[in-house]
Amino acid sequence: METTLTPTPTTQESHSGIPPSLIPLAEESKLLLHSTSTPLGRTSAAREEPLPVLPPDVDRPTFNAAIQELREGLGEEWVVLNTEELDDGWYMEHPNTHDAHHVFPPWDLVSSGVCYPSSTADVQLIVRWANKYLIPIHPISLGRNFGYGGAAPRVRGSLIIDLGKRMNRVLKLDGENCSALLEPGVTYFSLWETIRASGLDLWVDVPDLGGGSVLGNACDRGVGYTPYGDHWANHCGLEVVLPTGEIVRTGMGALPGKEGEDNPTWQSFQYGYGPFLDGIFSQSNYGIVTTMGVWLMPATQHTSYMLTFAEEESYPEIMSLIRPLAINKVLGNVPQLRHAIQELTITGLSRASIWDQPGSVPPEVVRKEVAKLPCGECSWVFYGTVYGPAAFRAQQLKTIKRQFFQLPGTRLFLPSDVPSTHYLHSRALVCSGQPVLRELNWLAWVPNGAHVAFSPICPTGGEHVKKLYEMCKRRCKEFGLDFFPTLCVASREAHVIVELVYDKSSPSSKHAAYTCIRTLIADAARAGYGEYRTHLVFSDQVAGTYNWNGGALMKLNERLKDALDPRGVLSPGRNGIWPRRFRDKGWEMGEGDGRECSTQGVGMKFYT
Ligand code: ADP
Repeated sequence: METTLTPTPTTQESHSGIPPSLIPLAEESKLLLHSTSTPLGRTSAAREEPLPVLPPDVDRPTFNAAIQELREGLGEEWVVLNTEELDDGWYMEHPNTHDAHHVFPPWDLVSSGVCYPSSTADVQLIVRWANKYLIPIHPISLGRNFGYGGAAPRVRGSLIIDLGKRMNRVLKLDGENCSALLEPGVTYFSLWETIRASGLDLWVDVPDLGGGSVLGNACDRGVGYTPYGDHWANHCGLEVVLPTGEIVRTGMGALPGKEGEDNPTWQSFQYGYGPFLDGIFSQSNYGIVTTMGVWLMPATQHTSYMLTFAEEESYPEIMSLIRPLAINKVLGNVPQLRHAIQELTITGLSRASIWDQPGSVPPEVVRKEVAKLPCGECSWVFYGTVYGPAAFRAQQLKTIKRQFFQLPGTRLFLPSDVPSTHYLHSRALVCSGQPVLRELNWLAWVPNGAHVAFSPICPTGGEHVKKLYEMCKRRCKEFGLDFFPTLCVASREAHVIVELVYDKSSPSSKHAAYTCIRTLIADAARAGYGEYRTHLVFSDQVAGTYNWNGGALMKLNERLKDALDPRGVLSPGRNGIWPRRFRDKGWEMGEGDGRECSTQGVGMKFYT
């Protein structure tokens, strides 16, 4: 039977749509993932409890009265209760009711409803409303934070503030300053299209997938792959609604411009005067960012390349060779060192097509399959890009080759050396500021594929990488999971991204992924390594590992939280920061939290 799927909207049709040029790719990817899902994994989760799920300590009559009041303030149609079946949808459909890549039961981490502000004034209204009724609110920009919790709030029954739907304008695009001023709903796709339509020769630094919010990704300290890959480092100035409803502007935005205009230096100088407070609005629950300035890279010539390394055990040497090149900026961008198994997964291959036994796919099977691909037999693949005029790039490539070719068996591929469908072409686009949609294909590895990431930070020295790599490999094997390590290299550290792909319809598969990450967080912390970002069900544990001097950092975070959000309404528990009224009441899920993810929920344990 032929499958008909809902068409993917374009950027002209929806704020969260896709550029028309990418529609064929989107359709292909959607079909691929649909073909690997089973009826159990596709079915929306029917819920057997009174709906909507209520926020803690709020009874239904009070909740209903509060919702009525909010509808009067925002308009009836801009407050929608979460009473339908939960549909995980697909990447471009981005459900804003729950976490589509659920680790706990899908109906566990859910909102009571979603509201859609159209302006900063609306956001203030919502925040003041939440303070009046003690209803937790949780902002999302697009809610496509897949692998880290998606659109779900940490506290069941919170009201989602979906900023993207109606606040999605590029407020300013400045070709001379090479910057933009954005609302939360501007996606990488839409910013890229806006820039192209303007005729300006600027790049947008994009992460692996382009459907997320430029502002939301920066606030969660996401990364991309051009020289502007550190998204938070390349933001410039914020407008923020505080948890009590006041608005602040940071950096030069705090200095009023002439005759009520925005300050002309707002997107040029990050610090302004006095303490640099921007940092407290990233990975936190101290404010709702309604506007952000971002720096854009002037387009330049570039050459992407791929290096393959023969030996599995050579990764410490590879990293030791990378370090001086990265620190001296010879590498140019944020390159990736990926295990060769990912050459297989990125093609959309299913695990079952090469191995039908339980447990991790044996290395010799992976090696044999990789050998059939354009990269040939190899163990590691390094994707990099050099920038600038031809002579400059040629010199950089010469240095890079000289360095890496010290390892016997190393090979260099340029885009012209591989077929047009090869992933290197996709990397070449991402590394030159063009959003793509290729990265989803590896979810086809298992049926009903979902993913959750273990993402520690590692100094770029070989001995550190070896420790972390061996730790992750051993634990993945122990839990019967395949191990897909990627190292995203900045100058002095690498973000080690270990994506665990699991079947979200299978309790045992979920259990393996969940328990493996919990174990790895603890293992890594004991060895002195910590995560840069995590799924919201692990945030207490990760925050708890940053505990030098008796947890001094969290004590400071909590003091800030209580001062800024005295009624504890904004995203309680996000990044492990709980407001006073929630603390020590059983919400925290730190190390040793023994609950079973597939049957006991985060909320269910406390609310039934
Ligand atoms: P994206 O869809 O771009 O990946 P999300 O909208 O899912 O990003 O947001 C990622 C994270 O950042 C979430 O934890 C969310 O609560 C937070 N966040 C998103 N937008 C804002 C914002 N405007 N202000 C404060 N926090 C935000």
